[in-house]
Amino acid sequence: MISAKTKLICILGHPVKHSKSPVIHNAILEENGIDASYMAFDVEPKDLEKAVNGLRALGFTGANITIPHKEAVMDYVDELTDEAKNIGAVNTLFIKDGKLCGDNTDGRGFIISLMKDGGFDPKEKTVFVMGAGGASKAVASKLILEGITKMYLCDLDSPKVENLKKHLLSLDVSADIEIVAGQNLDNAARQSDLIVNCTPVGMKEEDPLLISEEVFSEKHFVFDLIYNPEKTKILKVAEKKGAKTLNGLGMLIYQGALSFEKWTHQKPDTEKMFAIVKGEK
Ligand code: NAP
Repeated sequence: MISAKTKLICILGHPVKHSKSPVIHNAILEENGIDASYMAFDVEPKDLEKAVNGLRALGFTGANITIPHKEAVMDYVDELTDEAKNIGAVNTLFIKDGKLCGDNTDGRGFIISLMKDGGFDPKEKTVFVMGAGGASKAVASKLILEGITKMYLCDLDSPKVENLKKHLLSLDVSADIEIVAGQNLDNAARQSDLIVNCTPVGMKEEDPLLISEEVFSEKHFVFDLIYNPEKTKILKVAEKKGAKTLNGLGMLIYQGALSFEKWTHQKPDTEKMFAIVKGEK
């Protein structure tokens, strides 16, 4: 029951109605006997600073930050973790020694899912990251820091993909990074061990395949960040051609678990979190 002692946690995004985070976190807070409540707030970009100051004033324990605020919020925190600096975006706010800190758990969530659920070690591999938006920044930075050898990048928005490449090069690692477009997407996919879809393409039934069907084979591991639908067209096609595949549900769970730890100093049961989100609990 909510009382005057109940701690407050929330997600700030625009839009935010679709978010599964309140359901997952409220269930797991209750499961762990923590007197806290997790809410969702739709905040327009022009109101982000006021909203973050509101969290400070109201004594919130923490927050998640989602699209489109992950980069803008960096200007309104007192401190950034090294992870948030490396990625260049924030998805988690927490309080440490009275300071409002920004962290990013998306990249770690992705790597845990890739390695634990997918059994894929990206070290010294060639990877193709499609999309250069907020999620891609976290995924691509972590893959680079995990020691991949070569990365292909693509996005419809060429300044955005150029900026991502610049950011990745600033991480001072030796991986070769190449931007591809048009006809060269198929070739990049052919050369890659791991293909990661960080675009929203595939959320709708009628969405196209960004890579030709004949390119996929048993040598590929295909990771789609989308988890709704559970199996996008790219995952279905890749699977049919013998590739290993994984959707974004594990990433969603593990990034949430890492944020939960920042706020509560307790490790949640990720199996229970999977069950909650699948509606089995
Ligand atoms: P975002 O910031 O909008 O980035 C998506 C990027 O993909 C944009 O730069 C967009 O370019 C580009 N794009 C769109 N269509 C493309 C195409 N046909 N070819 C190449 N690039 C294309 O979104 P985001 O926050 O990074 O999220 C991306 C996806 O990941 C979403 O489906 C989201 O639901 C999912 N996601 C999953 C998790 C998880 O935990 N599993 C976490 C975060 C995000 P334009 O700007 O030009 O359209």
